[in-house]
Amino acid sequence: MAKSIVIIGAGQAATQAANSLRQYGFNGKITMLGDEGIAPYQRPPLSKAYLMGEIEIARLKFRDDDQWERDGIDMRPNAGVANIDRAAKMVVTKSGEKIAYDNLIIATGSRVRKISCENSELKGIHYLRTLAQSDALKADLDKAKSIAIIGAGYIGLEVAAIARKKGLSVTVIELAPRVLARVATPIISQYFENLHASHGVNIMTNCALKAFGGKDKVQRVLLEDGREIAADMVLVGIGIIPNSEIAIDAGIICTNGIDVDEYARTNDANIYACGDCTNRELDLYGIRMRLESVHNALEQAKLAAAHIMGAQPPKLDTPWFWSDQYDVKMQIAGLSNGATQHIVRGNIADNKFAVFHLNDENRVLAVDAINSPGEFLIGKKLVLASAKITPQIISNLDIPIKELAAHAVE
Ligand SMILES: Cc1cc2nc3c(=O)[nH]c(=O)nc-3n(C[C@H](O)[C@H](O)[C@H](O)COP(=O)(O)OP(=O)(O)OC[C@H]3O[C@@H](n4cnc5c(N)ncnc54)[C@H](O)[C@@H]3O)c2cc1C
Repeated sequence: MAKSIVIIGAGQAATQAANSLRQYGFNGKITMLGDEGIAPYQRPPLSKAYLMGEIEIARLKFRDDDQWERDGIDMRPNAGVANIDRAAKMVVTKSGEKIAYDNLIIATGSRVRKISCENSELKGIHYLRTLAQSDALKADLDKAKSIAIIGAGYIGLEVAAIARKKGLSVTVIELAPRVLARVATPIISQYFENLHASHGVNIMTNCALKAFGGKDKVQRVLLEDGREIAADMVLVGIGIIPNSEIAIDAGIICTNGIDVDEYARTNDANIYACGDCTNRELDLYGIRMRLESVHNALEQAKLAAAHIMGAQPPKLDTPWFWSDQYDVKMQIAGLSNGATQHIVRGNIADNKFAVFHLNDENRVLAVDAINSPGEFLIGKKLVLASAKITPQIISNLDIPIKELAAHAVE
């Protein structure tokens, strides 16, 4: 039985791993090594309520600062890890401290993908991953009159909504032909394009960024087609990169993230990994992939803790995610890749509907629910069960959502 467990990273997955280890009865030493200089906090509000100024830092934190010690977790927020010595079973921090482990959990998350073009280091160009970046973004949003957002993924669109609420003029510049192209189907992309347009956002798709312009700070965005967009500030949201370098350097197998099995184990039996930094199996879809979500971080952390403790692994859930934009809450269950039918239940114009994504056999692969928590919850169960339901049943509003499962065939 392990006596000392070291967790690299101090974010969502790391916190859950520590919590679950204690819940499974681990009473040895837990050392959590972070590098942000702050106790673990939730990231989702950084582009939502916190950025809007509706909630305080204290609400983001998973625990009060003094609670970590009371829970017997040695949480060190200024102890970035430089490397892992697998042979000696120890990690070495950037300041040279060596810390031995019986089991190691890597929960290093991911970092923003940076843009590289002329003037990309100008002041006023923001990225959003950390609390410090959210604070800097908020400070500029409160002064600026206009913002250009590069990338129409969830973070770009959430910041667009906040910027409009704060009264800025907003231009979103996207390389793909539609917003959310990497993560959503065309129906949902169209819905969000219309939603943002109705709030006065200028969405420019099929647009390639060439450079930024400005003297001391950014003043405009230059596009490949020669157009220029004036902007007092910029947010770049073009995706994230897994923090897997320390694992790669230690010889742990990584393929676009740290490869883990169904127990969140790496190819080293003493080392686990969880959260954004991993590449995991998704039995439900028969694929391996990287998931970037709270659900994934929590689930893998629980799997790792259970396996270390020899406990029954928790039941896997359908992957899920959410996004808040204006007065719209979108909740997503499952992955729509591979779906051939996209069935709308409800009325899109009411801002309250769900899209059920089915394969050729009418199996529910994913559900995108807009202001429809019932559809999300039931949809999540249908996805997990690979339920087979006809499009006619799904779109029939005379059948209450709770009764949908009863209409599944097989
Ligand atoms: C603005 C924003 C909004 C989001 N909104 C949503 C949402 O609505 N819904 C949703 O499901 N998900 C959302 N996410 C994603 C979600 O927050 C992440 O998937 C989740 O935080 C992943 O948890 P993690 O523990 O893997 O990584 P993190 O929470 O990023 O934690 C990793 C920690 O490890 C640290 N670290 C890295 N390398 C080292 C090292 N060598 N030594 C020590 N520490 C290290 C990092 O600095 C970081 O503190 C959002 C993310 C952001 C940034």
